[in-house]
Amino acid sequence: MINRVRFAPSPTGNLHIGTLRTALFNHLFAKSTGATTVLRIEDTDLARSEAVYETSIMEGLRWMGLVPQEGPHCDGGYGPYRQSERADRYQKAADQLLASGHAYFCFCTAADLDAERALADAEKRPYVYSGKCRHLSVETRAAYLAEKKPYTYKFHVPTTGDITVPDLIRGDIVFDSGLIGDFVMMKSDGMPSYNFAVVVDDMEMAITHVIRGEDHISNTPKQIAIFNALGAPLPAFAHLPMILGPDKSKLSKRHGATNVTEYREQGFLAEAMFNYLSLLGWSSPDEREIMTPAEIFERFSLDRVSKSGAVFDITKLTWMNGQYIRQLSEADFFQAVRPFVTAENSEALSGLTPAQQAEAFFSVRDNINTLAEINQYLSVYTMSATAFKSAVAAIAWQATDQDVIAKFASAWESQKPETVAAIDDVIAAVVTATGLGKGKVYKPIRLATSGLGNGPHIAAYLRVFGQEKVAERLRLAMATA
Ligand code: GLU
Repeated sequence: MINRVRFAPSPTGNLHIGTLRTALFNHLFAKSTGATTVLRIEDTDLARSEAVYETSIMEGLRWMGLVPQEGPHCDGGYGPYRQSERADRYQKAADQLLASGHAYFCFCTAADLDAERALADAEKRPYVYSGKCRHLSVETRAAYLAEKKPYTYKFHVPTTGDITVPDLIRGDIVFDSGLIGDFVMMKSDGMPSYNFAVVVDDMEMAITHVIRGEDHISNTPKQIAIFNALGAPLPAFAHLPMILGPDKSKLSKRHGATNVTEYREQGFLAEAMFNYLSLLGWSSPDEREIMTPAEIFERFSLDRVSKSGAVFDITKLTWMNGQYIRQLSEADFFQAVRPFVTAENSEALSGLTPAQQAEAFFSVRDNINTLAEINQYLSVYTMSATAFKSAVAAIAWQATDQDVIAKFASAWESQKPETVAAIDDVIAAVVTATGLGKGKVYKPIRLATSGLGNGPHIAAYLRVFGQEKVAERLRLAMATA
């Protein structure tokens, strides 16, 4: 039998880092065991669910290469894949449980339930619904229905015994069935409750492994009771540890960006995010950290998922992103970084050919950890002629600078070096010819050609500038030195 896993987000907000981690771990499990992946949109909360959020979830999944094999976008024979389109199935299952005596109509109003709760509080006992509507006489029930009194379908949870959640990560977790209480299965508006819909869907979609966040552990005994009542086999359960902020409390906006889009917009690479999130609650047996997806699939198993919360460490993610950026070739880096260059910088660079721009960007690749940071390093290329003039005019030249610049300028004009290596050689020759230390040669050349005290490798930007611009700048600088 082929395993089937599902990722079941509620489209009530933009894709959250924690939700993306759940999608990723389902994907990792599927890739490492050959399971089929299913996307199910849990949109029964009609007031909060919006199509734009479903789109945002899909975009995030696509960005990280995590689009499940089946879902609203691709029918695998188990659809529909949006809960809002599955009402008839919930109704059918609810009626089945009603007929088998596992469910009943509950006519209690919100005020009735509040009164029960207040009594339990006053008596200092945990609140569990009394189940009184389960004992309504046939006549009373018929009368209420005739009156069109609103009702819910309640699921009857066994009042004695235990319900054990066998969890692949945490082992057996035992719940006292008597403390759960009968709960709403179908609301009075005909919508299923989360716990009910999820079981009907997991059963009908033949899900074999439920991999989701730890916050759902307390729902699981209720879901198991429904599976049992429907006579359906239980899927395996695996509850992933919570994602925490640096202060060890649940990750929230307080700790910084929690939306996946915000990370994309700052220029985190999907590959780095994939790698980093895979380590949020899982570790490789060989303790490697930087791994390709294929290397992760090879090593991933649920038994190495930890029980304790995983801290989302933005510093480490940023570092890792830098590592991935440094692996990009000039062409790939150009592709990746171009959308992050501000309109202002693009305008200032518009005199360069695409090939020169690619070289310019590549020369500062190693300075940045997120793609948007590139804008802080482009001034060497974006500085206008006027700004350059005032910058060189303000430089406090040293005694030896005039000679260095003159020697470099004459070598530049006579040799016209075109490659980075050739330019490096010209600079090295000035070091030899002047007998000065490297610093005393590099610094004035950098100042005289860029007007700046630091920047990318000199030969790299001089090559982008080209023969004429460099020659002209050297003449200008010599006039001030
Ligand atoms: N819609 C639920 C959520 O977003 C899914 C829970 C589950 O995976 O069962 O938390």
